Amino acid sequence: MSSMQLQSPSSETPHQADSGSKSAVTEPISVPDAVASNRLDHPEETKPLRVYWPYAISLGIVHLLGLLAFFPYFYSTSGLILAVIAHTVFDGFGVSIGYHRLLTHRGFVCPKWLEHSMAICGICTLQDSPARWVAVHRMHHQHSDHQPDPHSPLVDFLWGHVGWLLFIDRRHDGVIHFERYVRDMLRDPFYLNMERKYMWLWVYLAHALVITVAGAITGALWYGTVAGATQLAASWFVWTVIVRTIFTLHVTWAVNSACHMWGYRNYETKDNSRNTWWVAYLTFGEGWHNNHHADQKSAMHGHRWFEFDPSWWAINLMKRVGLVSEVIGPKVRHGGKLDEVTGY
Ligand SMILES: [Zn+2]
Ligand SMILES: [Zn+2]
Repeated sequence: MSSMQLQSPSSETPHQADSGSKSAVTEPISVPDAVASNRLDHPEETKPLRVYWPYAISLGIVHLLGLLAFFPYFYSTSGLILAVIAHTVFDGFGVSIGYHRLLTHRGFVCPKWLEHSMAICGICTLQDSPARWVAVHRMHHQHSDHQPDPHSPLVDFLWGHVGWLLFIDRRHDGVIHFERYVRDMLRDPFYLNMERKYMWLWVYLAHALVITVAGAITGALWYGTVAGATQLAASWFVWTVIVRTIFTLHVTWAVNSACHMWGYRNYETKDNSRNTWWVAYLTFGEGWHNNHHADQKSAMHGHRWFEFDPSWWAINLMKRVGLVSEVIGPKVRHGGKLDEVTGY
């Protein structure tokens, strides 16, 4: 297993385990030597490393505000419950289904109003504008775990998790970058407007304000006092906005870091992608990342019966009620072998 060449997925790949090859299920799937043994250097365009202050400061502020959660004054059960609901809506519909399976990989088709609604939900996770998120992710698929990969954890875990966001990568700001990776998206004025004057960031701040004001109004109605309104508003701000944002950021970043380091592989791919169950459970199925790298256009990431994939369930449900169409399922489930690792 130690001297694997990059291989085209063949009839021996474990996806065929479903049709009877038992050894394929039990044998660990190795990665190419170039990926398994080499530590990667930072992408050339990030050298010399220079801090990207807008992201470093904003992420620093969010994490510092998160410390307020340790003070009982800022806690409320309603704030916690709303945080779980907000994570489901903004991460599940916004990032997993919207940013990733729809906008990046076009795994299904839906009306513009629904696509834009999902994009707005994605923006509420503070993970950059839709076009920038998609461009970086498409670049990741093009170079996965090779030096130009913007966030491979083979550089080191912290780089893959968050470091890549904190340092300037000269590729991300050029017009060429957008032209190359997201020309399709930027034909839509909605996404173009999100790029202008940090519009996406204003949308994030507006959603934080709406949640906080809703907390104040609810508190005023429930307790009938200014103190009650202030406390509930503060707790919704800290838990539903800040703690949930931090949680969503880290579980999404874990797809880039943990899912390229730890877990099992169903498929031989030219990268170190893994299926990591705990990431999948926290991200509505995004953690079945080796499956995803092997079949990128598929809107279904969980390929085996125990690979829990709520985003796929939601896409299917939307299809049944007529909201989405042309849903792309995994090749493997439709009788074909995995031909080539496709582009995005
Ligand atoms: Zn990946
Ligand atoms: Zn992807």
